[in-house]
Amino acid sequence: MSELDSAASVGAQKTNLLGLSQEKLEAFFTALGEKRFRAAQIMKWIHQLGVSDFAEMTNISKALREKLGDVAEVKAPEVVQQLDSVDGTRKFLIKVGGGNVIETVYIPEGDRGTLCVSSQVGCSLDCSFCATGKQGFNRDLRSDEIIGQVWLAAKSFGQFAPDGPRKITNVVMMGMGEPLLNFDNVVDAMNLMMHDNCYGISKRRVTLSTSGVVPALDKLSEVTDVSLAISLHAPNDEIRDELVPLNRKYPIARLLESAQNYISAMPDAHRKITIEYTLIDQLNDRPEHAEQLAALLQDVPVKINLIPFNPFSLSNYKRVSNNALRRFQQILIDRGFTATIRTTRGEDIDAACGQLAGQVKDRTRRSERYKIDAAAFVKSNSDEIPVRLIN
Ligand code: SAH
Ligand code: SF4
Repeated sequence: MSELDSAASVGAQKTNLLGLSQEKLEAFFTALGEKRFRAAQIMKWIHQLGVSDFAEMTNISKALREKLGDVAEVKAPEVVQQLDSVDGTRKFLIKVGGGNVIETVYIPEGDRGTLCVSSQVGCSLDCSFCATGKQGFNRDLRSDEIIGQVWLAAKSFGQFAPDGPRKITNVVMMGMGEPLLNFDNVVDAMNLMMHDNCYGISKRRVTLSTSGVVPALDKLSEVTDVSLAISLHAPNDEIRDELVPLNRKYPIARLLESAQNYISAMPDAHRKITIEYTLIDQLNDRPEHAEQLAALLQDVPVKINLIPFNPFSLSNYKRVSNNALRRFQQILIDRGFTATIRTTRGEDIDAACGQLAGQVKDRTRRSERYKIDAAAFVKSNSDEIPVRLIN
């Protein structure tokens, strides 16, 4: 029985069209006995106009709308809570079943608005400095749950209205999870973000961040051409083995080679790899580490984003001191690199990922913590990818 036959049978689950790529939508309509161009029509309704009710899709015949109502649906994941920071950062807590919650964070900065999207519930890679890793892995998000984060955020900003503000200009796959371990769903969702019939975000403004799943990265250029961020965090394998256990399998040299191959496969020259480097007190923040990092990246086209470690209860690591942070940055700049510091945003709504999702049932504590403390606020002046710290 085909997917469609089964969907049509009584009581069967409807096909959710929200996360289907153009190819999958075309296959869906072909199986319904419809022309392929219906795919483009429906994509515009869903992702350009934010319409989820087939009855409102007026350029589609009434008969087909009714048929669609029987076998399909456009269903976004459910937002359990939306939190707004005094600095404009907005955080969505999204229910994904089994009592689990994922997070999506929107960070405005000048004329740019970056949405930080999750790819998995938890993460299996267990990086020693990451709270998501400490939660363990629960499951991959489906493509509708990934693109659904963009859809929900766009809807909350009124972006779908004919003259609605174009709030989401950038997307970074830097929320919970390792995107390359959920390859197909992440690729489908990212391609929808960039599609002209959908959000039309340029490939330079959609960024996949990975801790280094080399075999998947080797395949990525065959299916997409988004921007790439590598979570390096260390200038040598010894330190990286401790921070990112996956490094023992795919050490730095292999990872950088794979990342460079990905960039070289891009038709447009001058694209750079973003290197993410989380600075932890005494561990990877010394001048000699900066020198080593500069030597390591000497011939790699990169821009470096320095992230002060965001402490959390299950970790003994400490945040880098401001002095060490500035010194580290200066050494890299002196060696000719673009090195920016990522500042914390949305602290009053705990826009640090992972923590809040883990405590979502603890309503009393949460409401305490949401009392806005403007003094605790750090205004961002970074011109790099403005992403909240994940912890
Ligand atoms: N799994 C992917 C994407 C999600 S992690 C990856 O690792 O790249 C997104 C970013 O947040 C990564 O650069 C990660 O290293 C960083 N991060 C995680 N925990 C952090 C913490 N406690 N403080 C600061 N940055 C952290
Ligand atoms: Fe997973 Fe990224 Fe956290 Fe590592 S840093 S545990 S890969 S989410």
